[in-house]
Amino acid sequence: MGFKTDAIHAGQEPDPSTGAVTVPIYQTSTYVQEGLGKHKGFEYARTQNPTRMALEKNMAVLERGVAGYAFASGMAAETAITQLLLKQGDHAVCSDNTYGGTFRLFDKIVRHFGIDFTYVNTGDLAAIEQSIRPNTRMIFIETPTNPVMAITDIGAVSAIAHRTDCRVVVDNTFMSSYFQRPLELGADIVVHSTTKYLNGHSDSVGGIVVLKRQDDAERLQFIQNAAGAILSPFDSFLVLRGIKTLPVRMEAHNVNGMAMAQYLSAKKQVQKIYYPGLPSHPGHALAKKQMSGFGAMLAFDLGSLDNARNFLSRVRLCSLAESLGGVETLISHPATMTHASVPAEHRSKLGISDGLVRISVGIEDIEDLIADLENAFAAL
Ligand SMILES: *Cc1c(COP(=O)(O)O)cnc(C)c1O
Repeated sequence: MGFKTDAIHAGQEPDPSTGAVTVPIYQTSTYVQEGLGKHKGFEYARTQNPTRMALEKNMAVLERGVAGYAFASGMAAETAITQLLLKQGDHAVCSDNTYGGTFRLFDKIVRHFGIDFTYVNTGDLAAIEQSIRPNTRMIFIETPTNPVMAITDIGAVSAIAHRTDCRVVVDNTFMSSYFQRPLELGADIVVHSTTKYLNGHSDSVGGIVVLKRQDDAERLQFIQNAAGAILSPFDSFLVLRGIKTLPVRMEAHNVNGMAMAQYLSAKKQVQKIYYPGLPSHPGHALAKKQMSGFGAMLAFDLGSLDNARNFLSRVRLCSLAESLGGVETLISHPATMTHASVPAEHRSKLGISDGLVRISVGIEDIEDLIADLENAFAAL
């Protein structure tokens, strides 16, 4: 079936007891057994929950994997991946420009279990090759990155990784499965913060992992149950509901994202703009090759902290907030918000200057969004 059909139907049958069209929220902790050893495949809700399992099947189809597992947050999903792939004495390579929480997980928690990390610019394939050791078991990439939208070649990184026993994990949160499918490009594992585009309505926190290899899938299912960081039935319901409109939302985000990028490109107060849909973006050609849209995340540099502060204090329709991927437009200041914990020197190396502003462009009328920004630009 096509992606839009799968988004609505994959993994979802009418409820067998009532015919309900929508998968119900199975808000139960346990299931009655007919006799010793006789049950319908459901024993305890950490292990099996029909609402969560419908979401997991749906995402496995959308990402073209063998199975998916839903977790209580994007970070819980990433934690489970480290438990799957890494043990004491192993080494992992990670983008030097991932979501801040990913770096914090690896550096402040996973590293303490005797696992070594090397952080490289994953846009530089030679740097990746040089960083690989005989004990490298994972390459973790995020593409496009937050907030400067740097692009990594998923197929090329996978080809390098697969010369040895090393898995490639891609954080696909920014593009969603609609615009980018890392497993088809050669990666082994894809992870999302469902909090963002998959749920899409800024009303749930969750994560999902989809795997290509059956052995990895079986082990991750064991970890999900044994470590227990499952997604709740209600959140599973919300994400399933959100995914039904993922294709139409992403199309609308894409149109507004491009219009916003073009509007900002023409503003004299904007010193630099980061959006992979613009031919001036260094990753534009690669983005066109491995993504089917450019999304609605973009960042632009207003030159100074004062300019950013004045600008952000004038926006009204755009909400000043962390997070992204919802139907409403969110605007943020990476240097003091999402990336405040990154040392200033490293921030500037990544292009996260004090004047940088990030927008997650929503699906409101673009004229209203531009009018809001136009008013804020008048203050500069
Ligand atoms: C938000 C985010 C995460 C973390 O997900 P949570 O649901 O907040 O735990 C990971 N990666 C990216 C790219 C994100 O934007």
